[in-house]
Amino acid sequence: MSSAPPSAAPDLILREVFGYEHFRGPQEAIVRHVIGGGDALVLMPTGGGKSLCYQIPAIARQRAGQGITVVVSPLIALMHDQVGALREAGVEADFLNSTLDWQQTQDVERRMARGEVTLIYAAPERVTTPRFLDLMQRLDDAGRLALFAIDEAHCVSQWGHDFRPEYRALTVLHERFARVPRIALTATADALTREDIVERLQLQDARHFVSSFDRPNIRYTIVEKKDASLQLLRFIEREHAEDAGVVYCQSRKRVEEIAAMLADAGINALPYHAGLDAAVRQTHQDRFLREDGIVMVATIAFGMGIDKPDVRFVCHLDMPKNIEGYYQETGRAGRDGGPADAWMTYGLQDVVNQRRMIDESPAGEEFKQVMRGKLDALLGLAEAIDCRRVRLLGYFGETYGGPKNGEPMALSSAPSVGSEPHAMGSVRVRCGNCDNCLQPPAVWDGTDAARKLLSTIYRVQQKSGITFGSGHVMDIVRGRKTDKVAQHGHDQLSTFGIGAEFSETQLRGVLRQLIAIGAVAVDPDAFNTLTLTEGSRAVLKGEVAVRLRESVSQPAGRSGRNSRSGGGKGTTSAAASSLDADGLKRFEALRAWRSEVAREHNLPAYVIFKDDTLAGVASLAPTTLDELSGVSGIGAKKLEAYGEEVLRVIGTA
Ligand code: ADP
Ligand code: ZN
Repeated sequence: MSSAPPSAAPDLILREVFGYEHFRGPQEAIVRHVIGGGDALVLMPTGGGKSLCYQIPAIARQRAGQGITVVVSPLIALMHDQVGALREAGVEADFLNSTLDWQQTQDVERRMARGEVTLIYAAPERVTTPRFLDLMQRLDDAGRLALFAIDEAHCVSQWGHDFRPEYRALTVLHERFARVPRIALTATADALTREDIVERLQLQDARHFVSSFDRPNIRYTIVEKKDASLQLLRFIEREHAEDAGVVYCQSRKRVEEIAAMLADAGINALPYHAGLDAAVRQTHQDRFLREDGIVMVATIAFGMGIDKPDVRFVCHLDMPKNIEGYYQETGRAGRDGGPADAWMTYGLQDVVNQRRMIDESPAGEEFKQVMRGKLDALLGLAEAIDCRRVRLLGYFGETYGGPKNGEPMALSSAPSVGSEPHAMGSVRVRCGNCDNCLQPPAVWDGTDAARKLLSTIYRVQQKSGITFGSGHVMDIVRGRKTDKVAQHGHDQLSTFGIGAEFSETQLRGVLRQLIAIGAVAVDPDAFNTLTLTEGSRAVLKGEVAVRLRESVSQPAGRSGRNSRSGGGKGTTSAAASSLDADGLKRFEALRAWRSEVAREHNLPAYVIFKDDTLAGVASLAPTTLDELSGVSGIGAKKLEAYGEEVLRVIGTA
């Protein structure tokens, strides 16, 4: 290697260290702004490339003699891999957390003091200890504290879905080290959360970089819940046999059940929830990251910051609390840009459960009101009969303009004004990659059925003085003389049998929507019985139309779906889809070699080389190091460390 001092120019660092030819979307503007000493708030979807936004400034500022970058990151479980990835690229990175013993901690601190570290990763509770603050003070006094990067910045807000009180203490960074620039990053933030981040982290003077939140490679599907486990199994077998994926469930018990069910069906599934032993959790997470094709069945305890790039699907068996959570969780699919699925089942019980959880929470009324609004927005998404993507992006204040090819676009450098989840009117733009666009649902007018349900709820309560649950109400509307109906004399009601033409599924759909729009309330203190609300009147008067999707009992198979991976059986990688037979052979040989290296280094395979880098090598079939260096993802250090080996592997493939 040459002896000239390494350049601090961002585009050179991008090429030399990371092996990438071009910045993506707003990366370059962000990097230049931060290298210049500006503060930044970066909102970019998962997979958008946030890490480089602080890693390149960190390297540049270190090379310019400005010292170390402190990266605040909430999950110690992931620091090891993040730091490992940087070291593979030849960057001096370290972490400080409770997995290190005293000796190791002191070693790292000494290396920091000597100026040998470019990036130090630590959790907020560590960063704000007196000991760490002292260390930073000494570095700052010597002019060697270059930058603060605050990852997963939404954790500072109670409106976000991962609130961590420790983040609040990070204001000390600004107060004690006012000279040091700060960059805060998040993949999720509605207008409210965003305002909170700015205020809590005192980023009023920071420049805002807001990317498009669209994830064009993710296909959104929301199906009506019938037999959720069977629906899930069919979905995985039909669409994602042998793929890595995540299945989110609400409770620990359900996680265990579903994981066992999938395992019985021959799927490589593992459970993950906070009730499991820490060691078991760690093993399962490691296996998910390191092995191919594992399905992780988990509560939301799993996943923040998981940067496994080739997760092909994320399922929700139960409805999450809000769109932020849904978007963050589904965003873990397809970070590599390859085709991926976000699939959710949703039913009446989900609506009832989520409403009850809010009602019963000890929080104040103002907080509950916000939570209800957020739940309503998610219900609106689930019930939607138009493009899901348009609605999702609309929620984040973004107007979707239709499918685009290529890079995410930068929308603006200022926060956009608050979105109005309730005011999302009917939309005509279609993304072409959600269930409603691919198979526009047949729609029927449920207004008449809704009125019949509402007047029945009213008459039942009037007659009996008590309220009843949905099954009973539907029986009356459909004119079914069950024992319970007879016992209460409800077959005498004027509404008995007025909706005999509707199926139970149809009525359930109407009820779900009535609950979703607040026209019917469910009383959790009285066995989930139904009562009318203020909102019922508008529906009864015909002022609000109830339009529903025609229930499809069995989602039709999607032709063309299986052909898209194109690489034949056994190749789960979308990256390899365009390779010919010889190319595939090289690709598989490289993957086998990579697994060995990853095992030796105790790192996930993608940290060594990503699939698309291996596919690039397999396709080009280079014979010299110089040719090899042209492949995206091969930086100087990796070329030096692995170049000869890679050439040997493809030479013999
Ligand atoms: P985020 O943190 O926003 O979810 P990452 O920083 O993990 O995203 O980046 C997602 C993937 O995209 C990573 O594998 C990363 O190496 C890759 N990537 C980021 N920027 C570029 C770029 N300019 N060119 C090519 N690949 C990139
Ligand atoms: Zn769509």
